[in-house]
Amino acid sequence: MSESHTLTCRLCGGRNRIPVTRALQDLSKPTCGRCSGRLLRVAGEPLTDLSNDDLAHPWDRDTLAALRAMPKVDELLSRVMARTVDKVAHFRYLGGAVEVGSDQLPTLWNLHRAAADRLAMPATPLFVVQSPQINAFAVGAGEPFVVLTSATVDLLDDRGVQAVLGHELTHVRLGHALYRTLARLMMSGGLRLLDRFFGIGALLVKPVEVALLRWYQMSELSADRGGLLTIADLDAHVRVEMTLAGGPSRLLTELSSEAFLAQADRAEALRSGDLMLQVTDLLDDSERSHPLPVWRAHHVAKWAQTEGFFRILAGQERRLLEVDP
Ligand SMILES: [Zn+2]
Ligand SMILES: [Zn+2]
Repeated sequence: MSESHTLTCRLCGGRNRIPVTRALQDLSKPTCGRCSGRLLRVAGEPLTDLSNDDLAHPWDRDTLAALRAMPKVDELLSRVMARTVDKVAHFRYLGGAVEVGSDQLPTLWNLHRAAADRLAMPATPLFVVQSPQINAFAVGAGEPFVVLTSATVDLLDDRGVQAVLGHELTHVRLGHALYRTLARLMMSGGLRLLDRFFGIGALLVKPVEVALLRWYQMSELSADRGGLLTIADLDAHVRVEMTLAGGPSRLLTELSSEAFLAQADRAEALRSGDLMLQVTDLLDDSERSHPLPVWRAHHVAKWAQTEGFFRILAGQERRLLEVDP
């Protein structure tokens, strides 16, 4: 991986070389040598030219394509899930959680709106549900919505919460919500219940189950990219994963992102060098609703160093956008 990237200033077209490690410490710092403008779009500025191809991790994209290509999967999903699950899930949260809006928990609503603006997409409905576990989901098919647990709001600061919201909105933007809802139903046994009413037994065969659960993990890597782009702050993003892995609320200020990423490198080295660990980890993953936060931190930190990430933040040159019809 290169230690610096050459970026074109979107304001004047000037070419700039920026050192990766230093830039990642504060992405608002790098300025253009020619016009002194800020080279990277900081949080708050909408990424209007963001494409889903920029967001989707190749592992997510390929696994989802394979899943969709399985016989009957898409057909069954659109027939059953879109009609039933949306209604049931919406009722469940409408009846058992707090719906956030401009007149309800407005701080949270503003963070959500800002995250959606940043990702150039409409804000979905948002709910907070009481739970001591840090967690969040994108739920539903036709009209997905986002759910945060109360512990997520309690334990993370505003930027952390916004990274989580950006993560969930990315699931929605990439069309993940339907398949993720299905995977969660599968893990909780709820799909067998649906099968009794709607006869979706074809979805319960092992290859679909395995492919779905594998994809469930891979889709996190894409959503983490969206979370990172939302706040444009790698340290704050890694803090979210670290808090998820084991952040005691009393000692949050003592958590070190640097030490956590070094731990992530050690975990990855251990896994890639040992076939037995790869196999048992895969078995473990199929039982787990959330993949290893350490693994996710490792991947998002690696992506943050790539030219692709910097190019998204740099945006397209305005001069070129204007001559485009
Ligand atoms: Zn410039
Ligand atoms: Zn996720």
